[in-house]
Amino acid sequence: MQKISIHDEKKVKQLLVENGEKAFRYSQIENALYKNFIDDFDKMETLSKKAREILKENCFIDTLIVDTEKTSSNWQTTKILFKTETGEFIEAVIMRHLTWRVTLCVSCQAWCPMWCSFCATWKLGLLKNLTNYEIIEQIYYAAKLLNKEGNKLRNIVYMGMWEPMLNYDVVKETIDFANAQKKMDLANRRITVSTCWIVPWINRFTEDFSQTGLAVSLHAPNDEIRQKIMPVDHTYPLKDLMKSLDDYVAKTNKRIFYEYIMINWINDDIKLAHELGKLLEWRLAHVNFIPYNEWEWTSSDWFKTTPRFIIEKFQKILQHYGVVSTIRMTMWDDIDAACGQLANKKWE
Ligand code: SAH
Repeated sequence: MQKISIHDEKKVKQLLVENGEKAFRYSQIENALYKNFIDDFDKMETLSKKAREILKENCFIDTLIVDTEKTSSNWQTTKILFKTETGEFIEAVIMRHLTWRVTLCVSCQAWCPMWCSFCATWKLGLLKNLTNYEIIEQIYYAAKLLNKEGNKLRNIVYMGMWEPMLNYDVVKETIDFANAQKKMDLANRRITVSTCWIVPWINRFTEDFSQTGLAVSLHAPNDEIRQKIMPVDHTYPLKDLMKSLDDYVAKTNKRIFYEYIMINWINDDIKLAHELGKLLEWRLAHVNFIPYNEWEWTSSDWFKTTPRFIIEKFQKILQHYGVVSTIRMTMWDDIDAACGQLANKKWE
């Protein structure tokens, strides 16, 4: 018989009942796993010996193997390279902010099929959609590691290797896991999903995630430039994208985070700042400027980071249109864990 992930509440409860145990025993498992971070069935002493035996025989706690774990020189970032049981490599990144707030960036696909020209991830192709437990195990691993440091996981961003809309049902289950009070206990507003926005998923997303943070990879204020760097824009041009986002805001009244990667000579002409301002001035929007993270396959050719003063100029122009924006710090460059650099580069 195939073993069950211990994180799969429904199946584990069913297993307990089928073996003559009460379903409420599951809350003892939850306490052991998520409060005390006991990840060994033999050490779950609050459970009866019989229950432990049932679990040992039928369940597993983790399938992901840590291949490499590396922390940046300033200790703010830890990148973990996991190997799945089917042999793919996936990555998760822990970001410790100066305020002690901690964010985990998870991967949901190995790797990504969206082909954005500036990103390292798609160069690897799409190997597979991850399962719910492969995502949950990334979250659990980070929560456990932070617990050892006397800290706590506060935020999760779905910004790793993948396009969340293409693994939607699984993503939904893992957000439910993160939300659950007896599991990760993270409010929806502490979770952000980043997507280049596959338009047909809008209705389901709006219904299921009306309180979850939404970040959209915009990267250009017109189709001409967006299509050059993001092939998805051919299928879902800006007019469709903005219409679906307007519907989302009308239903949820939530501000959308627009990600705008700054690539020199590609999408950082000052006139584009005005175009961006006009596009967003009447919308509930927050723009996140991401200085382009160079990586070895593109940086030598034609993609370079926009100089800081131009990004600041963009910000000033947006202010003029009443659009709020921030410039994202890149604090994890030295371990290749920044956006777009999750390409399974192994470290010595
Ligand atoms: N597929 C999702 C998640 C991608 S990664 C999405 O499109 O939103 C998260 C963010 O990093 C996206 O906005 C992505 O466009 C951006 N990104 C990708 N490569 C980058 C790079 N080299 N430098 C900076 N940001 C990058």
